[in-house]
Amino acid sequence: MDVTLERVEDRARESSDPDRRERRPGRGAALEAGEEDQQRHDHDAAADTEEGAEEAGDEADPDEFQRHRSYPRVVNGDSLLARIAEAPDRTAILLDVDGVLAPIIDVPHDSTVPEETRAELRRLNDRYVLVACISGRSSADARRVVGLDELVYVGEHGLELEPEAAAWSERLQSFATTIDWEDVERKPLTVTFHYRRADDETEALRMLEAVAARARHEGLVARFGRKVLELRPPVAAHKGTAVAHLLGERGLERALYAGDDTTDLDAFNALRGLELGVTVAVASAEGPAELREAADVVVDGPPAMLELLRSL
Ligand SMILES: [Mg+2]
Repeated sequence: MDVTLERVEDRARESSDPDRRERRPGRGAALEAGEEDQQRHDHDAAADTEEGAEEAGDEADPDEFQRHRSYPRVVNGDSLLARIAEAPDRTAILLDVDGVLAPIIDVPHDSTVPEETRAELRRLNDRYVLVACISGRSSADARRVVGLDELVYVGEHGLELEPEAAAWSERLQSFATTIDWEDVERKPLTVTFHYRRADDETEALRMLEAVAARARHEGLVARFGRKVLELRPPVAAHKGTAVAHLLGERGLERALYAGDDTTDLDAFNALRGLELGVTVAVASAEGPAELREAADVVVDGPPAMLELLRSL
């Protein structure tokens, strides 16, 4: 394998390792639990705009990214990734789409997975028992962007796997049609109102707060994120529930998960306690430092992720 992999630190995450938890960085340790939850929710809603290429950027902390870039990096192709690769018939490869397989671009609808990455995914799908994409997009949209029918897709941050969520879809959509708003992003199970481009942000926010109150009255969950209001069914689901579902129904105890945003932390957490769980953060200037700190392996952007996939 080419030496393009950049490992921050080798933090094996295995149930046989008694130091596993201690050696994991204290995610959000500086935050009170409530604060952390709030921050997560703020990010979640924004990430639902999938993956928020247009939202991203103004939250970037260049200093933070520089600190990350100055981490000591040890190129080591034979530990965690090699162990993933050694039992493909018992191992799942789980991948976020935007920012991991497809580069983030200004117009999310135009995102696409490069052909060379597609070829690699085909190879992995022949080799591993499961290759799945877990996205904030709808699964239909994720499938369109990735362009490979044969993979497994879970959309809308795991909501698609929750039967109760589907039961809310019609109510959610009919509620949304009563709202006169220019910049609306509709997915089957979530509706997101954007106000970044509003002429008067304060007025837009005031109007959306009224929408949120009405939505809550209807039993929906209303969450504000980065210049967005997201409405969703009152159903607990996230990328971690999606991972647990995919692995559980197949009885798999070994998996690699790669993501680039805050919502991917839930998936990271779902890998804890497996026989072998390897987490990969695909770093970018606007990506959360929290994810990089929690990851076993950090790579810089989708091209480096492709190199990682080639090693599996
Ligand atoms: Mg992403």
